[in-house]
Amino acid sequence: MPARRGARRAGRAANRRHELAIGAACTGRPFAFRPRRRGLPAPPAPRYCLAMAKLYFHYSTMNAGKSTNLLQAAHNYLEGGMQTYLLTARHDSRAGQGRIASRIGIGQAADTFDAATDLFAQIAARLAAGPCACVFLDEAQFLTRDQVWQLARAVDDLQVPVMCYGLRVDFRGELFPGSAALLALADEMREVRTICHCGKKATMVVRKGPDGRALRDGEQVQIGGNETYVSLCRRHWREAVGDS
Ligand SMILES: [Zn+2]
Repeated sequence: MPARRGARRAGRAANRRHELAIGAACTGRPFAFRPRRRGLPAPPAPRYCLAMAKLYFHYSTMNAGKSTNLLQAAHNYLEGGMQTYLLTARHDSRAGQGRIASRIGIGQAADTFDAATDLFAQIAARLAAGPCACVFLDEAQFLTRDQVWQLARAVDDLQVPVMCYGLRVDFRGELFPGSAALLALADEMREVRTICHCGKKATMVVRKGPDGRALRDGEQVQIGGNETYVSLCRRHWREAVGDS
């Protein structure tokens, strides 16, 4: 079936381009090394479909460089002559135009979503408007569980890879709803790492009030407050919030 073989080959090439663009080793080939000895049959070829697009979740704590990673990966696509679709959370009433910005000073215009956005429909509309090799979504912690399912359907039914970047836990040490759904549904997860002041990996975040003390309670999402966020290892997070 030449058509199917061609589609598989194109799918493998797309997966490879994608892995290269996001700076990862190609993980889709567990049987890449197949030693052959004369007279022995070759080990079986992989049976699953290599052409499958995936839902990715890149998670971390605050200030680890998620947006920088996202922008670099999207830029790698553009350099390869491929178009991408960038999305980020909308924090005010302005529809459409948003921006994904990194603390190191780079940024890119992006479309926006809020809790009412049908992301499957939005991605389908973008794909209908022209070629798009990959969808990048920042601030994925703000997704609803339904929206994570919409992204999963876009991956499965529209065959477009979707790369989500977001925080894993809030300042109380609890999962964001979007992150919980992505941890459950994503095909692949990768940690974007940063370190605590002690040198250990930071996995938690504290919200500090104007007086510099760590807050224990409050809204999970606080936009435009005077608080600052500091990423810490669990031991130093416990120390900061008074859990001993
Ligand atoms: Zn520490």
